[in-house]
Amino acid sequence: MGADLVAGRTAIVTGAAQGIGLAIARLLHENGAKVVLVDLAADLAGQAAAGIGGDRLLPLACDVTDEASVEQVVRQTVEEFGSLEIYVNNAGIARDASLRKMSVDDFEAVMNVHLKGSWLGVRAASAVMREAGRGSIVNISSLSGKSGNAGQTNYSAAKAGIVGLTKAAAKELAHKGVRVNAVQPGLIRSAMTAAMSPQAFAEREAAIPMRRAGEPGEVAGAVLFLASDLSSYITGAVLEVGGGRFM
Ligand code: NAD
Repeated sequence: MGADLVAGRTAIVTGAAQGIGLAIARLLHENGAKVVLVDLAADLAGQAAAGIGGDRLLPLACDVTDEASVEQVVRQTVEEFGSLEIYVNNAGIARDASLRKMSVDDFEAVMNVHLKGSWLGVRAASAVMREAGRGSIVNISSLSGKSGNAGQTNYSAAKAGIVGLTKAAAKELAHKGVRVNAVQPGLIRSAMTAAMSPQAFAEREAAIPMRRAGEPGEVAGAVLFLASDLSSYITGAVLEVGGGRFM
């Protein structure tokens, strides 16, 4: 799907080594963007970039929970590619457990990666974008943050928090030409959902009006739309990509 919708722009995608993040990086690249693939380990990000292939790619190691690490990625991106127009907060982890069994460590780990990580990304990226007078930030939330999932009190709270972050930042940045939106994927085939039992996966699928799980590329399409000028008058929005679940 190479329509050059984001040609000449520079994008950072966090958690880009696999799954949804890799699909987002690939689609932005196919549409002409220079793409920085960020993940915990340099070799993982490097393999992902090699899998996409071609130029306009920069793999970088970064822990999104670390302020200095996030700031460094933004700085290095601007040094390498000269600008930053698109930032996708996608990195994520799950530490599912019932309230009876969930530890404070499980809670904090999930809040740190999703909520603090996204906040650090929004802050660092918007500092560059507001100076340039343009930019689009896309935060990956989840339908779990809309509906709440049993066994995911940490994850649902973090993903709902990302919606609040998105709307507050959108209000602060709108008059500076920077848009901030969120995507809420439903059940998507990736390493994260491969950890579910086949029975739990099938039960979830059966509850989806479209009767199937989504593919990472179907989330990437929504991100490309929000990253591009096709969505030029959309900010503070939450776009659901869930096959009709929880509509
Ligand atoms: P995944 O586990 O396949 O990939 C997540 C990536 O994030 C990995 O490459 C991992 O190394 C990276 N990552 C984790 N912690 C990081 C950190 N501190 N710093 C940098 N990178 C880090 O997961 P996925 O299914 O592709 O999920 C991507 C995003 O989509 C996540 O935010 C997830 O919560 C969200 N999401 C997924 C689903 C789904 O059904 N798969 C549904 C809704 C939302």
